[in-house]
Amino acid sequence: MADYILRVSAAGGLVRGFFATTREMVNEAARLHETTPVVTAALGRLLTAGAIMGHTMKSDKDLLTITIKGDGPVGGLLVTADSHGNVKGYAYNPQADAPLRIDGKLNVGGVVGNGSITVVKDLGLKEPYSGQAELVSGEIAIDIANYYATSEQVPSVVALGVLVDTDYTVKQAGGFFIQLMPGAGDDIIDELEKTTNIPNITALLDAGMTPDDLALETLGGLGFKVLDTLPCRFHCNCSKEKVARVLATLPQKDLQNLIGDGKIEVKCHFCNTAHMFSDEEIEGFSNETH
Ligand code: ZN
Repeated sequence: MADYILRVSAAGGLVRGFFATTREMVNEAARLHETTPVVTAALGRLLTAGAIMGHTMKSDKDLLTITIKGDGPVGGLLVTADSHGNVKGYAYNPQADAPLRIDGKLNVGGVVGNGSITVVKDLGLKEPYSGQAELVSGEIAIDIANYYATSEQVPSVVALGVLVDTDYTVKQAGGFFIQLMPGAGDDIIDELEKTTNIPNITALLDAGMTPDDLALETLGGLGFKVLDTLPCRFHCNCSKEKVARVLATLPQKDLQNLIGDGKIEVKCHFCNTAHMFSDEEIEGFSNETH
């Protein structure tokens, strides 16, 4: 099943839902960053949330960045997404690890720790929108729900899951957001509370359920209609030219310090691609701009 996000409207527009399957996206992130299984789970959950949150933005050029900073061994996670289903991200320490939880699950909360989540949305306005919340558990889904409740005043049910196989590849990944719009009453909240009893999302995906099935499972009682589906993927738009433009802004002194080894390598944080520059090229930036 290729990765996509299903967007639905329920209860006559008082509820909106996003249901995503993201196995390939998370697998690509794990491959590029060579993450430990627990970091694959942490980053994969945040990438899935980023893809969904990107889909909530309205304009073509809107961009979203989610940063989680924690005192656990991973240190932090950063994910950016556009409104077209393109998402990329990295973990500060991709090799971080933590013992399994008592229930045998990957200990995402243990690897993230205590800290904060920051969401910055560049919606083409003069100033980007920025919101922040404390981490509740470091397990990501509940932290995102808490962010929405406290920072954007949008009551949300958020589920995110990544199932890592014994060979460290991603077996299943996905998630859903169910959000109440202004005017939603207690009857709707009561109905939605049933969804909090839903077993973990990767078990449902592993049993063959699609995002459409998940929508039916969670919102079937509220009457929903499908608005659209959006393919999503891990995609980095870096290039040697873009890195060159950044290098060209460095002070002369810093550029001179880079020269001497014959070539320098600049790695993209998001996709780990190494962009190579010769001494002559660096010399060229130095002459160009100073
Ligand atoms: Zn890149």
